[in-house]
Amino acid sequence: MEFKKPIYPIKQWNITETEFKKENNYRNETTFALSNGYIGTRGTFEEAYPFDVDTGLEGNFVNGFYESNEIRYGEANFGSPLLSQSLLNLPNLKEIHVILDGEEFTMEQGEVKEYTRILHMKDGILERKLTWTAPSGKVTEIHIFRLVSFARKNIMAIRYQVKSVNYAGTVEFVSKMQADVENHTRKTNPIVDYGPFGRRLDPDKVTVEKDTAYYEGTTKGSHLTMACGSSHELWCDGQKVTDVNWMAEAGEMDTISNASMQVKEGECVTLDKFICYSTSLDMEKEKLEAFVQDELAAAKSEGYEKLEEQQKVYMQNFWKTADVEIKGNEELQQGLHFNLFHIIQSAGRDGRTGMGAKGLSGEGYEGHYFWDTEMYVLPVLIFTEPETARKLLDYRYATLPQARDRARILGHMKGALYPWRTINGEEASTYYPLGTAQYHINADISYALSLYLQVTGDVDYLKEKGAEILIETARVWADVGSFAECKGGKYCICDVTGPDEYNVLVDNNFYTNLMARENLRDAVGAVEYLKEHAPEDLKRLEEKLDFSVEELGLWREIIEKMYFPYDEKRQVYPMDDGFMMRKPWDENKIPPEKRAWLYENYHPLFIMRHRMSKQADAILGMYLHNDLFTEEEIRRNYDFYQEVTLHHSSLSTCIFGIVACDIGYLDEAYKYFSQSARMDLDDYHNNFYAGIHAANMAGTWQAIVNGFAGVRCQNGVLKFKPTIPKEWEEYAFRLKFKGALLEVRITKDKAEFTLLEGGEISFTVRGKEVVLKSGETYTYLLS
Ligand code: BGC
Repeated sequence: MEFKKPIYPIKQWNITETEFKKENNYRNETTFALSNGYIGTRGTFEEAYPFDVDTGLEGNFVNGFYESNEIRYGEANFGSPLLSQSLLNLPNLKEIHVILDGEEFTMEQGEVKEYTRILHMKDGILERKLTWTAPSGKVTEIHIFRLVSFARKNIMAIRYQVKSVNYAGTVEFVSKMQADVENHTRKTNPIVDYGPFGRRLDPDKVTVEKDTAYYEGTTKGSHLTMACGSSHELWCDGQKVTDVNWMAEAGEMDTISNASMQVKEGECVTLDKFICYSTSLDMEKEKLEAFVQDELAAAKSEGYEKLEEQQKVYMQNFWKTADVEIKGNEELQQGLHFNLFHIIQSAGRDGRTGMGAKGLSGEGYEGHYFWDTEMYVLPVLIFTEPETARKLLDYRYATLPQARDRARILGHMKGALYPWRTINGEEASTYYPLGTAQYHINADISYALSLYLQVTGDVDYLKEKGAEILIETARVWADVGSFAECKGGKYCICDVTGPDEYNVLVDNNFYTNLMARENLRDAVGAVEYLKEHAPEDLKRLEEKLDFSVEELGLWREIIEKMYFPYDEKRQVYPMDDGFMMRKPWDENKIPPEKRAWLYENYHPLFIMRHRMSKQADAILGMYLHNDLFTEEEIRRNYDFYQEVTLHHSSLSTCIFGIVACDIGYLDEAYKYFSQSARMDLDDYHNNFYAGIHAANMAGTWQAIVNGFAGVRCQNGVLKFKPTIPKEWEEYAFRLKFKGALLEVRITKDKAEFTLLEGGEISFTVRGKEVVLKSGETYTYLLS
């Protein structure tokens, strides 16, 4: 395992850039990206430098707002999606140019000193500070703050301060809206042959009046409308300036508002820019303009400082529960904060949107939502921000109709099949072996839902939405396989792809069969619960879904007879029926430069015929359901998969780290954890420019909480199996469980559990039952 040198200085709450270098720009735009789960904006500069496709991408996004294009196939099969979905890059309103006594500020001319750009992760604020000496010798201090508001989901704000150091003269602010925007599809996804190419928004309305700009445009393909606008406030040495003469001009696709002020030597002028985005996915198109104007007026009357204050309060509350403190390693602490910061920024919170594999930080993966949300991100949110977790589950509930349609296309007369990748709920994967064949998505969603129900005890959710998801997903499992005679009448599922994307269209993928069985078990449990406690809800579902409890008979039989591939000689569960027959992989035959993502350099058949794995697959199942295996069994499988896994996916190392903890391989676990914690911050996959790896970011939290502390919630029981890596003195975290807040603090010799909030909590520590009342602490000795 190789480790990279840290890119940014090690500071546990900040990410700091101390020098602007064009060659680092593309990557840093992702590092400094801000979002609130609705608006996402890349860490680009107000000066709007004209970077080319290899050095930068101006990016502004609204969660769920996508463009569609006809997909061109050489040979389409029945059921191939016909329309693409791409998160659309939207008009940019961050652009602000400053002309200082006739000279425009740019970091490419004159001299830049004391440059720092700081991502304040504790507060959710981005800051840039520098001193600029213009070619004429005039010196100005520039100080810029930016936030995407958690309190006001449609609002982003910039505070731009300019202080003359050695001159008196004119300061002119030129604030712009630029709607001539294109996605970079080719750069971020060179293997696809669909757009959005070129500019995809047609302007419906572009206006500007003094300091207030408005743009409304409709996409060419998906016919969605988006609206945005901006408005400003000016200050001089802390006093609001009201007599500004704003000059404004609107073009076909842009607007300019500019204002000039006289400054004395040492005086500071400030421009506050408030920016708003909304779309026709949130309201009728006709209402957008009034909404944007009202939101801008409200943000402006509240003022930048209030927005900043609200931002800090939101973030403080988040960290209060979600922070994991590590004593003894600031480097890992920084990585963990960075990862959690991006997770909380990226999650959709309106029940209508999900969370992209890249969050809202870039165009990678077309902005699609995958299983990454349910298997990696949701477990974190369920224990720390259950309200947000619920909203993400709502998104899946809201898209059940599309999942039902998809199931019919795949020949299932009942039930729902969720898409492998999507924004609007329809399948957007154009290559079914790596896409639709990943049926495990159904079980992943059910797994996350069941975890949510167990951890929160939210039975209303089960009645209102959860049971419907469980029943509909289970029905597809009951239809997709068969009791195969050649396997002793066991239930087999053929031609699916498990999580591992180097072994596709396989028979009896271990993970899929395991998770499908648990999906069926949870569905049986849900129906039985309704039968006993909410018969009207069951009746409603029977009618709505044309469902009968008699279907449970088949589900139970499948649960009992599910088939799992097993290799007697090695006593391991191979990934699928054919895995042990495949040719052993010899890494030495692959030139180092071709080892990263094999599909780029090798034919799929070459890849599939080898016995190796791109990412954690079978052992992910063993992590989640470790109660179904002995420790010895898990160890044997871990050793086996350790040899054959290439970790070419960012979703892999964190899972290996967790399983390594489970079987007492703490040194190995520590190495996996360390890589996962700093994967994006140190750009291990060399593609951070395209956006964050949200799954791994959340996986880092899991690697500590589920790994080192051994947390599981199985059959409604919260369990701990605490350990501590030898490199640490102490670590601590908090979990929300059924309305209670529990603090866990683990040192070299003990684990302490304190109930911070809530009347009572029960859990087990290495099998020992513990009940705590409010304020009480339980101590478990580790050695
Ligand atoms: C991984 C998938 C993942 C996707 C999006 C792929 O490389 O193999 O498991 O869902 O990336 O993160």
